[in-house]
Amino acid sequence: MTPARNPLIAAPTRRPTPDGPSRTRSQTRRDASVARRLATVLTAVTSAGALLVTGGAAQAAQAQPAQVAQSASAAAAATQPAQQAPSAPTAPADTRVGGTTVARAGSVGAIVSSIDRALRASEIRNFGKPTRTGAVAVHFGPQTQDRVKSFQRRNKLPVTGVVDERTYNLLRPATKLTRGLNTVGRSVQGRAIQVRVVGNLATAKRRVLLMGCVHGNECEGVPVLRSIANSTPPAGVAYVIFTYPNPDGRTAGTRGNARGVDLNRNAIGWQPASARGNPYYPGTGPLSEPESVAIHDVFRAARPTAFMSFHQALRCIDFSGRGKQWAGTYARISGLPVKELSAYRGSIGTWVGNRYPSMVSLTVELPRPVPAWMIDSNIAAVKRVATRH
Ligand SMILES: [Zn+2]
Repeated sequence: MTPARNPLIAAPTRRPTPDGPSRTRSQTRRDASVARRLATVLTAVTSAGALLVTGGAAQAAQAQPAQVAQSASAAAAATQPAQQAPSAPTAPADTRVGGTTVARAGSVGAIVSSIDRALRASEIRNFGKPTRTGAVAVHFGPQTQDRVKSFQRRNKLPVTGVVDERTYNLLRPATKLTRGLNTVGRSVQGRAIQVRVVGNLATAKRRVLLMGCVHGNECEGVPVLRSIANSTPPAGVAYVIFTYPNPDGRTAGTRGNARGVDLNRNAIGWQPASARGNPYYPGTGPLSEPESVAIHDVFRAARPTAFMSFHQALRCIDFSGRGKQWAGTYARISGLPVKELSAYRGSIGTWVGNRYPSMVSLTVELPRPVPAWMIDSNIAAVKRVATRH
């Protein structure tokens, strides 16, 4: 059906809320003030006794990176039971825009266990055994920091003890994706996180990653993905269909994952923002959630040339990376208007725009409910972008 028959285009849209790679100036100010308040309550404890570190965490980290990092990690060890997310972020944030910090001393969560496992594998390859024995670490302490430095030294990387994206990618080779269904991780509650590959990913020039329901209560774009998954891609095109990156949220019907983390605020480039309980709660640090680790892995494995993520219900097309060129095409075919919203730190779209500027990245905000004709028009729009970009 043609967009001209779309009755929703003329309909008034609600004021955009920060969904997809978007934020407003007032939100930026609000978040900055929250970050400052959090920084002032950052309490660090040394083994010699209690030492209260106040003031901006970022400035303090610049002045005395080792001391603050170690103190913060000691504080985290003292105050955080294993695997229990704190109510407010405690990991020192990488405050640079588009920062590539993945984990550092003080980090907790899924990313830390993932790094620990990768360090073990690397140490076994190099020394025949891991340098640390016992349970998999869930807390990035001084010992992990030393092992990271040793890895960086072995691989001729800057020896910082901070796992940046470059270190992480070298430490943890990307998952292999094969044709058909692939399990790429487990959710907080243990559900399989799966992606389907349609076509030949190894030879396709155009690799298109479609994400259906990263917010568990915004799943009405899924029929678009189902249709694409059942189609035969044109020559040179492969689809990676990531329908449910947040299976716990989907089951519970919640935006966030089982820990209440908004996975679209938990990507690399993360910043501390709202507290747990807020729908936009970003978690304790970048990739702190197992679902986010899996999403990051899928990007590395698929090396998409185009990425389209389906949300609700702002009725627009937003873009990042090289998506600007294609947002208009998608809009014309789908019947949804282009709406440029500024980047939101920690969102997948913002990370993609910084990390892969040549990728066509579109955020599709469907209405709620989605009329049947719009499922068809979005299938057509996906196919057009997939074959031409
Ligand atoms: Zn959403």
